[in-house]
Amino acid sequence: MCTVQVGGRTVSGCTTPVTNGMVVESESPELADLRRGIIEMLFVEGNHMCPSCEKSGDCELQALAYRYRMDVPRFPFSFTDRSIDASLPHLILEHNRCIQCLRCVRGVKARGGQDIFGFRNRGREIRITVDTTVPDALSDDTAIRAEAICPVGALIRKGPHYLTPIGQRRFDLTPIGADVDRKGGRQ
Ligand code: SF4
Repeated sequence: MCTVQVGGRTVSGCTTPVTNGMVVESESPELADLRRGIIEMLFVEGNHMCPSCEKSGDCELQALAYRYRMDVPRFPFSFTDRSIDASLPHLILEHNRCIQCLRCVRGVKARGGQDIFGFRNRGREIRITVDTTVPDALSDDTAIRAEAICPVGALIRKGPHYLTPIGQRRFDLTPIGADVDRKGGRQ
């Protein structure tokens, strides 16, 4: 999603070093279509049933789909049938919704700094795992942090949901990227 154009070349903004005189194009119809294509790929690769998802309105993938006006994906749906792991006391792992961003792996640690989340396999077969031997791994606090950091509804804390009605959630109230638009960065 950070794809930009530098000197007419399409590159990822987060890995391209800045150089003197560099001219970066960050918003154009071509980039918008490219980003829309990436969103579409993420949608068809998993099962993202927004109307029935607990994260609806709070989901970055859904919010980006609205931002880039995704309609019908140009790719065929893969209708994944991965197992849902509800064995942990406070957290559900819905692998069909995981977009493999690894934010949970990088961002949710135990108080001692140990990794809680990891992954096994590679490519489309990547599955997020939880090291249940790590202190804090099974706590409700970890589940809260995991749900918050996950951009989609792949990590869901067990307990009541829909306390904030759909229509009044984060991206319902402020569409993703609205701050960029306000600064005039969007074409
Ligand atoms: S944060 Fe969510 S979407 Fe990203 S890898 Fe972890 S479970 Fe998957």
